[in-house]
Amino acid sequence: MIQSQLPPQMHVFVRDWLSANHVILRSEAGAVVIDSGYAKHVPLMLALVASRTGLDGRPLAKVINTHCHSDHIGGNAALRRAYGCTIAVPRGEAPLIAAWDERALLYAYADQRAERFGVDEILAPGSTHVWGDLQWRALAAPGHATGALVFFNDEHRILISGDALWEHGFGIVMPPEVDPGALPATRATLEMIAGLDARHVIPGHGEPFADVEAALERAFARASAFEADAMRTVRHVLKALLVFSLLDRERMALDELPGYVGRVGVFRDFNAMYFRLPPAQLAEKLVGELERAGAVHRADGWLMPRR
Ligand SMILES: [Zn+2]
Repeated sequence: MIQSQLPPQMHVFVRDWLSANHVILRSEAGAVVIDSGYAKHVPLMLALVASRTGLDGRPLAKVINTHCHSDHIGGNAALRRAYGCTIAVPRGEAPLIAAWDERALLYAYADQRAERFGVDEILAPGSTHVWGDLQWRALAAPGHATGALVFFNDEHRILISGDALWEHGFGIVMPPEVDPGALPATRATLEMIAGLDARHVIPGHGEPFADVEAALERAFARASAFEADAMRTVRHVLKALLVFSLLDRERMALDELPGYVGRVGVFRDFNAMYFRLPPAQLAEKLVGELERAGAVHRADGWLMPRR
């Protein structure tokens, strides 16, 4: 899908795996932005948002989050400082933000950074909103995040899917021992999305896409693979989180990796729960699998992401 197929008041900034995409919806009532990226990219995000808001003298009125992982909310506080805008989060995520639950939100627990912010508006599943002169239904999309929402516009059949559906997969899902409801919810969310008959999907990461059926087929296949093999889910979570940290840090010293997986909460706890390996062996296992998948490479004592 190309930008020209979207309503003119809608603009998508496609970002990367460290920062979620930003969706801008402009209107007379003021622009809104959906998802604000990761803390590291705040200056770039502010420049991108400024390039599309205020063009008609209407600054940013609101920032909205599909869910509250660090790569979606990292610019919330900065946007409020810059524009005095309000912040709206899904109802299921609001208590975690109020408590700043760094474990449930995978912040410090997964070695991720986020600037704390307050919530002005709570988005209930099933509620309807007018953003950018378009009607959006907020639909519960649990799985990757329990409280996640997706936003659907019936008129143009556009789905803003967050991390519930990407062109090739979906965001990490916790294994059954950690959250027994996560995988069943993931499947139910995919079924809900299949029932929408969306024409365009704007995912949290990657290019917007129109072949929704093929994406759903791949997502259902991935869900089945996770359902069939809990350890695959466990390894996928840790590998995805390690790559995220690597993108954040840009490189990590290989000889510090055992200390890292022994220290950072999610690696330490998953190791105790599932692998019971010396940290150096767990680090080698994860790095080896990522290397074979072409996601990372080692050079001169450093581990680096392949971009
Ligand atoms: Zn994300």
